[in-house]
Amino acid sequence: MKQKGILMVLSGFSGAGKGTLIKALLKKYNEYALSISMTTRAPREGERDGVEYFFTTREKFEETIVDNGLIEYALYCGNYYGTPRAYVEEQMAAGKNVILEIEIQGALKIKEKFPDSLLVFVTPPSAEELKRRLEGRGTESADVIAQRLARATEESEGIEAYDYIVVNDNLDECVEELHRLVDASRRAPVRCQELIKEIREELKGFAKGAK
Ligand code: 5GP
Repeated sequence: MKQKGILMVLSGFSGAGKGTLIKALLKKYNEYALSISMTTRAPREGERDGVEYFFTTREKFEETIVDNGLIEYALYCGNYYGTPRAYVEEQMAAGKNVILEIEIQGALKIKEKFPDSLLVFVTPPSAEELKRRLEGRGTESADVIAQRLARATEESEGIEAYDYIVVNDNLDECVEELHRLVDASRRAPVRCQELIKEIREELKGFAKGAK
């Protein structure tokens, strides 16, 4: 069945392991494409422009908003983050499932604009584990860690807005679970409109022929 790819939003607390999960999913299956966001946050050590993010200035970001170049954007901990439109549209048309790794405000905007998008929330097995992972990463100051934990508390209030929740404990199992969810979701009638239309038209053709 030839089908347009789905738009999948993957959110989760900072430190939930979304990045690792997405990398593993992309490596194992070639039907996914990861959208690279634009941000005004400064690159962390080792991050490259055009790989983790398109790093930009506030001014350029605001220009892109005005030009309708983003399908959504949000302010998160004082910085802008947004999803460039062109890549998402191209990849979906090519049949790829496009992954947006974005936070909850963006996720809700996506669901509003694209009701057949799939919203998945990734969480570590416990809050204790989340704190441990954030501290272990060693890339953020104690202040930023505290800010991100406070943000996680707020975000936990919004989890019910998502379609599914996956617990990232064992990475391989989590990858499989996520892939199965996407596969099953693609069979929902709302995401198979083309097929439904074709079958209906063919059936109508039969009915005419029988007259
Ligand atoms: P970080 O600074 O840790 O890379 O990202 C901070 C938060 O911004 C994460 O929750 C991440 O998912 C989210 N984020 C990254 N890109 C986008 C985007 O394009 N739009 C929105 N709304 N959030 C994003």
